[in-house]
Amino acid sequence: KVRVRFAPSPTGGLHLGGVRTVLFNYLFAKKHGGDFILRIEDTDQTRYVEGAEQYILDCLQWCGIVADESPVVGGQYAPYRQSERKPIYREYAERLVAQGHAYYAFDTPEELDQKRKDIPNFQYGHAHRHELRNSLSLPLQEVDKLLHEGAPHVIRIKMPEDETISFNDMIRGHVSFETNQVDDKVLLKADGMPTYHLAVVVDDYLMKISHAFRGEEWLPSAPVHLLLWEYLGWKAEMPEWAHLPLILKPDGHGKLSKRDGARLGFPVYAMNWTDAKTGDLTQGFRELGFLPEAFMNLLAMLGWNDGTDQELFSMDELIEKFSIERISKAGAKFDFEKAKWFNAEWIKRSTDESLKLKVWEILKANGIVIKDEAYLLKVIDIVKERCTLLPDFYQQASFFFKQPAEYDLPAVKPKWTDAKTDFFNTLVKVIPQLDVFEPAALEARFKALAEEKGIKVGEVMLPFRIMLVGGKFGPHVFDIATLLGESETIIRIEKALE
Ligand code: GLU
Repeated sequence: KVRVRFAPSPTGGLHLGGVRTVLFNYLFAKKHGGDFILRIEDTDQTRYVEGAEQYILDCLQWCGIVADESPVVGGQYAPYRQSERKPIYREYAERLVAQGHAYYAFDTPEELDQKRKDIPNFQYGHAHRHELRNSLSLPLQEVDKLLHEGAPHVIRIKMPEDETISFNDMIRGHVSFETNQVDDKVLLKADGMPTYHLAVVVDDYLMKISHAFRGEEWLPSAPVHLLLWEYLGWKAEMPEWAHLPLILKPDGHGKLSKRDGARLGFPVYAMNWTDAKTGDLTQGFRELGFLPEAFMNLLAMLGWNDGTDQELFSMDELIEKFSIERISKAGAKFDFEKAKWFNAEWIKRSTDESLKLKVWEILKANGIVIKDEAYLLKVIDIVKERCTLLPDFYQQASFFFKQPAEYDLPAVKPKWTDAKTDFFNTLVKVIPQLDVFEPAALEARFKALAEEKGIKVGEVMLPFRIMLVGGKFGPHVFDIATLLGESETIIRIEKALE
């Protein structure tokens, strides 16, 4: 059975790349009728950030991604928070020591600092491990004594010398590493907590993970993990790996970072994130007015396509079409203009009903009280194709709920004539005589009146719009008038003529 996991460390807000990792895991699981597991990797207490786990949960919820197993819903392999699994890991670390694949290291942080000063590019590995204080270099009795006394120690993997380790990555194909390049990573820390390297292997094994998607930044750690799978005797059950390409800066030079967002004026986090320590706010796609459907769609297209020109996909279509073969090996450039295009397209595609609450909130936040829901739905229907981000609904729709506070006078004043005043004075009188107050009827009468008065229609169209809307924007003016209703249209014309 396909079982995948998203395994974030709760160290802060979720970056685009993190959410894309969630999405690809999820798409793969659902495509194959498998399970998507959320596991919180919080064993590094020094990097733990208050609120980050809740943020991750909220983010998944906003994205419409439901975990089959998680710290919240539980599951067969609970707990799903690594800090709560602490007692599990030591046994495996000790097993590795007993087998000679790992060893105790007693070096203090000061001793290691000194070593780093003395030796350029120091690595705790085969070249230097014998000069340090560990169970490979110290006499057995000394080691026993230290352990007996409860001397602080870590357990490190003993990387083999002169070996080549290789595996088949689902995206990159054959990948290999020289063991001499890799240091003896800590597996179990002095506080008894496992490091990521040990915990990820043990938990992927115990939770029966079949496929593991993660960011490319983890590729250098892969040899350590492969060896652990082998040493622990689980090689046959090792998940298949997929290291996802990086998301690059818009110019393609390097990995997109949080700072790029601030510098270039676009979000890189899924939702707003406030750093509790510094109080710094990092803006999110959600708060900027992205729809989750658009966000999922644009993330999927960062590094994947279905082989055609199609760019707009719903979650269901993504699940149906997703395939690892079509994930590119190269990094994907992030283009904010394109991201906005996805959102505009998704606003157009969304039903008025599904936009209702969101628009209602935006209008409410701007002091507009909605009394008539059916009217709101009609407004959404005629303005949605003009909105790129959700807050645009305020700019595009507020005039439907309140009279313009000001008019774009420079657009009409210089060319104003008494004939135009006369035209509009007459218009308010003929409007009530219409059989129906509908766009076509209104337009026909409007044009006929212009002709009767010897005025070009073009000369009164813009003024009409500005009377109703306040500015030079919005849908067809006769649609606007009709939706505003007969009496409101008359009121606005009269008010503007004052
Ligand atoms: N805890 C790791 C992270 O924060 C997970 C890497 C993995 O998926 O193996 O990115």
